[in-house]
Amino acid sequence: MAQQKRDYYEVLGVSKNATEDEIKKAYRQIAIKYHPDRNPGDKAAEEKFKEAAEAYNVLHDPEKRQQYDQFGFNSPFGGGGGGFEGFGGSMNMDDIFSMFGDIFGGHAGFGGFGRSARPQQHRGSDLRLKVRLTLEEINQGVTKKFKVRKDVPCTHCHGTGAEDGSGTETCPTCHGSGVITHTTQSIFGMMQTQGVCPTCQGQGQVIKNKCHVCSGTGVVKGEEVVEIKIPAGVAEGMVVNVPGKGNAGQRNGVNGDIQVFIEEEGHNLFIRDGNDLIYNLLLDFPTAALGGEVEIPTIDGRTLKVKIENGTQPGRTMRLRGKGLPAVQGYGSGQGDLVVNISVYVPKTLSREERKALESFKDSDNFKGDRQTKESIFNRFKNYFA
Ligand SMILES: [Zn+2]
Ligand SMILES: [Zn+2]
Repeated sequence: MAQQKRDYYEVLGVSKNATEDEIKKAYRQIAIKYHPDRNPGDKAAEEKFKEAAEAYNVLHDPEKRQQYDQFGFNSPFGGGGGGFEGFGGSMNMDDIFSMFGDIFGGHAGFGGFGRSARPQQHRGSDLRLKVRLTLEEINQGVTKKFKVRKDVPCTHCHGTGAEDGSGTETCPTCHGSGVITHTTQSIFGMMQTQGVCPTCQGQGQVIKNKCHVCSGTGVVKGEEVVEIKIPAGVAEGMVVNVPGKGNAGQRNGVNGDIQVFIEEEGHNLFIRDGNDLIYNLLLDFPTAALGGEVEIPTIDGRTLKVKIENGTQPGRTMRLRGKGLPAVQGYGSGQGDLVVNISVYVPKTLSREERKALESFKDSDNFKGDRQTKESIFNRFKNYFA
């Protein structure tokens, strides 16, 4: 009974490197052509329709597509030897519509599509917040409190939308089916369009007596103080998602999320480079020449004593392992470093004694930028001259 399966790209009539958009377009065209509403009782059309849906199911998902490209129908994806099997026969039309409803523009659908018109649980919308963090906060992770204005459940009706527990009754518009049918003229001729009932939004039931506080929605505007934990190591542009803290769903539906967009403040001592921090150390000349010890500040507010070798040259860098920023949990690994760029401070003014002392070194060969130094500078920068 099992037929030789056709290549998914062949089914949709697209090339192996088709874009997501091309795949979507191709599928949409085939789905329209072979749609059962337009080919009533035509088994072959139905098979083509299902075949295209299966191909689209795999190719529009980047992960599944890559698996398919690599392993074909024997992909380990989804477990079991069958790979991508189990779509064509077992799945009915309504399932296909509910899977790909978006491509046809949602429930109301494209000419006759979206027949599934199932009752939907209301979901509250997401809220977006911005938070500006210092490097210190990013280093440690921080909990921020926000006062959020949002939809909250109506306390008068406990979110049900019904006054005095009056409950629901069968929707008078759709008589409980949640679906309404109307006939429209389209480019394909007369088509029966089924859509979600506007009176009950597909629920099939309406509230007998709408709550006078929330007008039957079950939600009212309110304020809530939300504590949001920002993990250590986040960076500008990252988004922290807080599930269930967004707008309440109507009539005790599902809450939306809060998305927190991270912004980063500049720092007066450190420059961030990924998880590394860069610190520019301006070393005094005697310490650079004689060697010694300096104190380097760290992002946790402490200092580190660091040994400076005698004869330390400007432009040298030191890497203090693990003294940078932590990686966000689950992303990258380990702790960044503190990179110290050394430059040497030259006094802008000199006292008479200082001038005298320095002048006495002027003729010393040891203080001359000698040939060797010039060569080493040349070697350092020779790539620029090449
Ligand atoms: Zn209410
Ligand atoms: Zn209705």
